[in-house]
Amino acid sequence: MATITSLGAAREVTGSCHLLETGSARLLLDCGMHQGGDSVSRLQKERFDFRPRDIDAVVLSHAHLDHCGLLPLLVAEGFHGPIYCTEATRNLLAIMLEDAASLYLRDLEAANTRRRRAGSRLIKPRYGMDDVLSVLKYCQPVPWHQAVAIEGDLTLRFLDAGHILGSAIVTLNSGGARPWRLVFSGDLGASDRVLMREPEVPDAADLVLMEGTYGNRDHRSQDATVAELEDIIRQASRDGGNILMPAFAVGRTQELLFHLGCLYHRGLLQNWHVFLDSPMAIEVTRLYDQWLDALDHDDQRVMRHFGAHTLSQFLPVLSPTPTVEDSMQINRMERGAIIIAGSGMCTGGRIRHHLKHRLWQARNHIIFAGFQARGTLGRQLVDGAKQVRMLGQRYAVHAQIHTLGGFSAHAGRSELLRWAGAIGGQPALRLVHGEAEALESLAEGLTAQGHEVSIAAPGEPWPLNSTAPDSGAPPHSYQQ
Ligand SMILES: [Zn+2]
Ligand SMILES: [Zn+2]
Repeated sequence: MATITSLGAAREVTGSCHLLETGSARLLLDCGMHQGGDSVSRLQKERFDFRPRDIDAVVLSHAHLDHCGLLPLLVAEGFHGPIYCTEATRNLLAIMLEDAASLYLRDLEAANTRRRRAGSRLIKPRYGMDDVLSVLKYCQPVPWHQAVAIEGDLTLRFLDAGHILGSAIVTLNSGGARPWRLVFSGDLGASDRVLMREPEVPDAADLVLMEGTYGNRDHRSQDATVAELEDIIRQASRDGGNILMPAFAVGRTQELLFHLGCLYHRGLLQNWHVFLDSPMAIEVTRLYDQWLDALDHDDQRVMRHFGAHTLSQFLPVLSPTPTVEDSMQINRMERGAIIIAGSGMCTGGRIRHHLKHRLWQARNHIIFAGFQARGTLGRQLVDGAKQVRMLGQRYAVHAQIHTLGGFSAHAGRSELLRWAGAIGGQPALRLVHGEAEALESLAEGLTAQGHEVSIAAPGEPWPLNSTAPDSGAPPHSYQQ
């Protein structure tokens, strides 16, 4: 009997990794890392509950690190099979994994320098840059909507998840006498988001492994959120301060650039400079520009209306600051700077240096526009900490902290309920990728809709029933 076992992202948000075992194949759906803490101690703690060499293939939903970050470690520990993903995901993966690896190797070297001086045992790297290159070599791009035969008797098809560039909903059909159909939602986008299209709905499934990050609440509407952003910019103007936006390099940054572009064309940003202070975000933005045709058509039309064919053309006050020298120049700005920098949860990256310079001054504003996982500096700030520790020192929090929930890259509760309800074949639902509270609340809502629902427990194998055969019908999008 085929089973699916959630090894990560079970009653938690990060570390997405699910093991699918059929009679003839062992597959991983995602191979993500946990977030929080520094990159060295975080990676030291990561363990696989299987032998990587026994895995036949990986199916990757998208290129966020909490879904793909452990692929180099998987390869370093013996995996050498195909990694199925969309082509845009493969492009993004190269940027994401190379960045994460250089960060890790740099932090490791620093940690080992300290250890050497203290006479402690050195830490061996768990993977190297060559493993990242192997991951990219093993990637096999699969076109959207095309059914492709993979390991065993499985057929794989990717639908658009509308979450970030390249993000997919994974559908897997088995052959044999008692066929089953598994859907793995990956991360589902919100329907009113800019740049991304709406998540598609699979036509039928027996079991849906479904994300529930925001299973207990709806986001504010996009319009209300943009209005809030506008208010904060006006307030920061009056305060004579700067604005820091910790943002994920992939997705959130490009959306913010689009929104800021719209505000610019409405005359709001004429006295502001927007700094994109992240080499990775700059590279990813270039990739979004390349794939613009695959993104939302209405937003493409808005950009073209203003004669823009790239996000930087759409926001003329934007200055990318790729080098450290460029980044340090921003420190001189007393006022009028909007600084977009990673990492999104303030666990590393240049944002910490900007926080160091600005967090303790009341005239500055910090805008969180994304999910903040437990244990991260971002979560502490959002939860109202009066003082925080970073870069080896304590800092008073006097800057004004704002949370803009409406820019979430994830579907809110109502959208999740609607998405699940639109899937044919009366699938059973198994909830992952959410904190317990969110998943319990979502389970209640889905049960009330008549679904059979369970919440994945870490390491618990779950059977894939065999009922609905594949109808072969095209996917459809739900209507609002
Ligand atoms: Zn994601
Ligand atoms: Zn995720």
